[in-house]
Amino acid sequence: MSDSDVDDGDDPDEYAAAFAALSDPNRVAVLRALWDADGHEATFSELRHAVGMRDSGQFNYHLGKLCDTFVRQTEAGTYELRMAGLYTVGSLLAGTYTDDRTVGPRPAGESCPECGAEATFEYDGDWFRLYCTACGTEEGDGETRNGDVASDEAPDGETPDDEAPDGVADGESPEPFAQMPVPGGVFADYEAESVPQVAIDHADATLQTARRGFCPFCHGPTTTTVHVETYDEDEVVTRPRDAQRRADEADRSLAATSVPYTPTDGADDTDHEERPETAPTPSVPHAEFTCERCGEALQAGLGVSLLDHPLVGSLYYDHGRDVREASLVDVFTLDPTRAWIVQTEPLRAVVRYVVDDEAVELVVDDSLEVVETYRGPASEA
Ligand SMILES: [Zn+2]
Ligand SMILES: [Zn+2]
Repeated sequence: MSDSDVDDGDDPDEYAAAFAALSDPNRVAVLRALWDADGHEATFSELRHAVGMRDSGQFNYHLGKLCDTFVRQTEAGTYELRMAGLYTVGSLLAGTYTDDRTVGPRPAGESCPECGAEATFEYDGDWFRLYCTACGTEEGDGETRNGDVASDEAPDGETPDDEAPDGVADGESPEPFAQMPVPGGVFADYEAESVPQVAIDHADATLQTARRGFCPFCHGPTTTTVHVETYDEDEVVTRPRDAQRRADEADRSLAATSVPYTPTDGADDTDHEERPETAPTPSVPHAEFTCERCGEALQAGLGVSLLDHPLVGSLYYDHGRDVREASLVDVFTLDPTRAWIVQTEPLRAVVRYVVDDEAVELVVDDSLEVVETYRGPASEA
């Protein structure tokens, strides 16, 4: 917790000692009082008054326990909140330790990326999940991870596209197509009907943080990679729920592959056998943001991950739309018609955005760097 260097070693004793310093309501009250004070700084007597302790000696004892980890005494003799104090109070107010609310299931206000039916939102006190009762399935293999990652296998039966979500009474919640951890306190200031959108916005902010290189949990550096999941029977992690619709769209998907992308280097010719033109089972790429310090990994579809690319923003803008209001359906791209692999060595993946009759396609490498772009009629792309 030094302010200039990161402690490499995980020392449980050190962590426990830090938390032990908080094991008194008076000390937590001191942190809250400092949080509320101008510039997070106050005098001894101001703090004692704010906390409401008469005994100066006893108050001094508690204050001393917070120094120097959470509170620092300035040269002027006042006390100020240190970073550890800021994060502690922040996580207290976020409800991380105390807010155990649950929300839903309730209508998500978002359409299912697979079938278009209204998705269902549920928050269990730790994670929020978006799933579709119209086309989702009950049995999961536990492969879904953090982020906007579609998961699960196709149901054997048909997909009732027009059936209302509550028209399917299956008892158990289907596998989510998106899920993310969020502290319950995030929802404290919102009406119940806004909670799903708040959760989605929070997830977006979490992903943006990871995308910008900072772990949303430990603030360590993140590495961005593009991963591929195939539809091969034996190694399926993600595959479409609606196999029939996929089959109908397969021609368009495969045809789309060759048009916008032209290898910049003729030497790539030897790598072409993995291209979707010749692969009967398309592969769907997604982005993964992995923290080098704590190892936590967030996954997201390429469409969500590259939404801040200027070409995508301008496509929406030129059609009178705001990319910041793009729905999950617009950008959800664990879908072989919206994101696909054109080459494996080196990896080249395409993500496609369509607004009205126009499309933007971005070609990315295995670190999500955009290496080539296309904008043109959607019919040709
Ligand atoms: Zn659905
Ligand atoms: Zn981390």
